[in-house]
Amino acid sequence: MSHDLRTPLAAIKASASALLDQSIAWSPNDRNELLTAIDEESDRLTLMVSNLLDLSRIEGGALIPDKDWQDVQELLQDVLNRTVRQTSGHRVNLKVEDDLPVVYFDYVEISQVMINLIGNAAKYSPPNSSITISAQQNRDALRIAVTDTGSGIPPGRLPHVFETFYRAHDEGTISGSGIGLAICRGLIEAHGGRIWAYSALDVGTTVTFEIPIDPNVRISAA
Ligand code: ATP
Ligand code: MG
Repeated sequence: MSHDLRTPLAAIKASASALLDQSIAWSPNDRNELLTAIDEESDRLTLMVSNLLDLSRIEGGALIPDKDWQDVQELLQDVLNRTVRQTSGHRVNLKVEDDLPVVYFDYVEISQVMINLIGNAAKYSPPNSSITISAQQNRDALRIAVTDTGSGIPPGRLPHVFETFYRAHDEGTISGSGIGLAICRGLIEAHGGRIWAYSALDVGTTVTFEIPIDPNVRISAA
């Protein structure tokens, strides 16, 4: 984990120091590249730090969702705007059922869940492949699914992907800390919901969650 935090920090430090070096006359292009690196690496760092803070709050039992009635379409549009950089090489489809009711949840926390799921879909699937995000009502629950057409997760590893620090891919291939899905599970359970994954090798992965539409109406078990 500390290694994962150090990588973007080192990149930011190196780019900033390079830009400040008076002995180098950077071309506008080089300058732009260094500034872009700083911009992108700070985004990565911000995401990792907010995941880590969430994790410590979840594990310390200090996570209390700040819920209110929310428009799902608006949340998903907002999340898509915030993840354009990660998904720029993919085709993203959004399928929101007509007439979805407003749903009672913590906007920041469900956004974080969506950002982690979309980040995974983009990270573990090839460029140009499609990512589909769907939202629908399933009885008393809001059901959201994120589907990719990527490498998939080996069946023996699938049951562990929601565990803290578990990574189903070999170290060194794709970077990550193994906490994104653990946080998703913590945040969804804090909403009285549930989250699960289906995956087939070389076909793709779907991660789905359900949360109650109304906090006074509990959702039925799977
Ligand atoms: P991070 O903490 O940065 O999210 P991570 O992506 O490795 O790191 P998780 O999001 O918790 O961690 O996912 C756990 C593991 O599950 C991943 O390392 C990956 O092996 C596997 N995984 C998750 N989502 C997918 C997906 N959409 N397709 C294939 N494998 C996936
Ligand atoms: Mg992840």
